[in-house]
Amino acid sequence: MGENIPKRVWKIMRCPLCGGLLSRTADIAKCTGCSDEYNFSDKGQLDLRLRRKKQYQLQFELGAELLPNGFDFKTLQKNPTPEVDFTGLKTPWHLTEELMSYFPKARSNESIMLDIGCGSTVHREICEHAGFSYVGFDYNSSETPILGDAHALPFKDNSFEFILSIAVLEHIQNPFIMMKEAYRVLKPDGRFIGSVAFLEPFHGNSFYHHSHLGIFNSLKFAGFEIQRISPSPGWNALIAEASMCLFPGLPHRLSEFLIQPLNLFHRFWWRLAYAITHAYNVSESYRLLSNSGAFYFIATKKEKNTPLKNTS
Ligand SMILES: [Zn+2]
Repeated sequence: MGENIPKRVWKIMRCPLCGGLLSRTADIAKCTGCSDEYNFSDKGQLDLRLRRKKQYQLQFELGAELLPNGFDFKTLQKNPTPEVDFTGLKTPWHLTEELMSYFPKARSNESIMLDIGCGSTVHREICEHAGFSYVGFDYNSSETPILGDAHALPFKDNSFEFILSIAVLEHIQNPFIMMKEAYRVLKPDGRFIGSVAFLEPFHGNSFYHHSHLGIFNSLKFAGFEIQRISPSPGWNALIAEASMCLFPGLPHRLSEFLIQPLNLFHRFWWRLAYAITHAYNVSESYRLLSNSGAFYFIATKKEKNTPLKNTS
């Protein structure tokens, strides 16, 4: 069992409860610290979900500035100097070419990346194309090699050069803890790229949908240096509502087509309001921010607390 997990990944795997080393036998992985045993599923997946309750303490600092003054939540443009060329590869659902243009390139042939909430591992191809050993990770998926909980990542500190987490954060019961965990297992200068629902309807047991300020706050809380937080331009509240919730059973494309007249009128109305008032709260940037179905984010783990930068 566990042959589908590369040796270099075994080296960084730890007990999700106590962080102890795992000793591997033919059919279990046993923690050398707390002695908890982790089994393989029928499909050969290593099940590193917690076996018992774990205490996790967070400390909040109150009285700090509430709003990220000066940070520009603009729409993501293509990176003019991308590290990886994805020409010819299919862009997975939920991702955009703009977001992929910020993917890092593996620093060496030992580089590992983690896809938190990988589902059916649709990001494997593009991550391997960027030179990484791909580690799929999910709480409940038949296709991931490792099952686990994003609140208790079963990996040692500073393990991954790149973490991806697409449309997952809204499903996390305690997002501040997941952010701390992602920060912990990311290597210094490693990149964390993801997306989170904002004005999507409730779906798949979603807990906390994030506004741009929400995602800024949770990334900053964990210690990340934030490069970008951007609205998803083609996926606004109307389209998300129509596609996911308004007409159950109707094909997505047809649902989105039906909402288009209202969507066009919405866009026209904002333009008209801006032409008359020139006020920021009816501008195109504000329309995108306040109506977005989801947000993308790009952040980096810096060893020391460096001043916030908004690179362009
Ligand atoms: Zn343990």
